[in-house]
Amino acid sequence: MSKSNPNWTRDELILVLDLYFQLEHGQITSRNPKIIELSDLLNALPIHSKQRKDQKFRNPNGVAMKMSNFLRFDPTYEGRGLESGSKLDQVVWEEYESDQMLLAQVAQSIRDNYQNVSELPPISDEETFREGEILTRLHRYRERDPKATKNKKKKMLAETGKLACEVCGFDFYEVYGELGKGFAECHHKTPVHQLEANQRTRLQDLAIVCSNCHRMLHRRKVIMSIDELKEIRQKQEA
Ligand SMILES: [Zn+2]
Ligand SMILES: [Zn+2]
Repeated sequence: MSKSNPNWTRDELILVLDLYFQLEHGQITSRNPKIIELSDLLNALPIHSKQRKDQKFRNPNGVAMKMSNFLRFDPTYEGRGLESGSKLDQVVWEEYESDQMLLAQVAQSIRDNYQNVSELPPISDEETFREGEILTRLHRYRERDPKATKNKKKKMLAETGKLACEVCGFDFYEVYGELGKGFAECHHKTPVHQLEANQRTRLQDLAIVCSNCHRMLHRRKVIMSIDELKEIRQKQEA
């Protein structure tokens, strides 16, 4: 049985699309040094397991082909572009085509951080923010930083006497008694592409939340603010 290389993921497509917008259409070839550099980077990303990569994995030819998949969405391209491609190509194109500045920031952030997240646990597609898995992993890691979360809870307790969810007010101690004492989750409020691996988690970047609200804050591809989620709850209650 011959193995086939894994499907392109969001992180990879973000990097390809970012370079796509920097090149003229005629520069999309496997000999372009920028495409060769991107091929090396894609091979270094901690996303696909070694077992799933063959020697052609994301080689310059494959990267140029993937880049050509975007041509068919591009109104400035006169030709037809490659018909093949995945649904995710289109999703990523639609998310970023009108905000190439954001795309560039996200791509740079993936480049800056990928080496630091290789040991962190993978995240499912469904739970991955639109900035991709690498930066979502970093978000998880930062908001579960034991020292920062401990200090955040301490500060909250000192200031308010409880650990009430900043969205809905749920208090584990109040509901579960001793069992819930000291329990709450922390959510990191910084937009994912602005996280830096080596920066310390600042207490003002963390929000105290209950487990339900935390899941809801992560539910959309774009990170939601505490106020947005509060508003959603209020509308629903009204
Ligand atoms: Zn809550
Ligand atoms: Zn979170």
